[in-house]
Amino acid sequence: MVFAHDTEAALRAAVELVNSAEDPDTLTETAQLAEFFERHLYTGVHDGGPAELAAVRALRTSLRAMLTSDRDTAVVLVNETLAEHRAVPRLVRHGDVDYHVHAVPAQAPLPVRIAVETAMAMIDLIRADESSRLSICADADCAGLVLDLSRNRSRRYCSTNCGNRNAVAAYRARRK
Ligand SMILES: [Zn+2]
Ligand SMILES: [Zn+2]
Repeated sequence: MVFAHDTEAALRAAVELVNSAEDPDTLTETAQLAEFFERHLYTGVHDGGPAELAAVRALRTSLRAMLTSDRDTAVVLVNETLAEHRAVPRLVRHGDVDYHVHAVPAQAPLPVRIAVETAMAMIDLIRADESSRLSICADADCAGLVLDLSRNRSRRYCSTNCGNRNAVAAYRARRK
């Protein structure tokens, strides 16, 4: 583990959310948001309605900016997000999850929770000067984000699809 478990979980969720906007968009239905909520073990408000879905979809652009900007710009975006939503970090534990940080109240809307949790995770990334853990997919036609939390920093592709496609292309190129 490179960062604390909640930091890594928040980064994984944020990258998946941003990448859902890549063509074909995989966050167009409330059921897909419900699956995302469950998969990432979110707690708190999740009303499941179309307005919530629209707000989470809209969040993807600003999250992408926060995750891909240069360090100094990212700092501005992180600080703005934390101030805008009046984040107050506190340690909590619930269910099977050991102590971790919540920075918004339980009744905060889901998009606010996601934005603040991403900003909190970026605090760790930025002050450890580990921004290179985030990059753009090495596939020439893909703009997906890559989160590399591996020890040897070997991840170059956003998905196994992109990885396999490029492995096949490289193989064909070698055989020519
Ligand atoms: Zn929690
Ligand atoms: Zn990709």
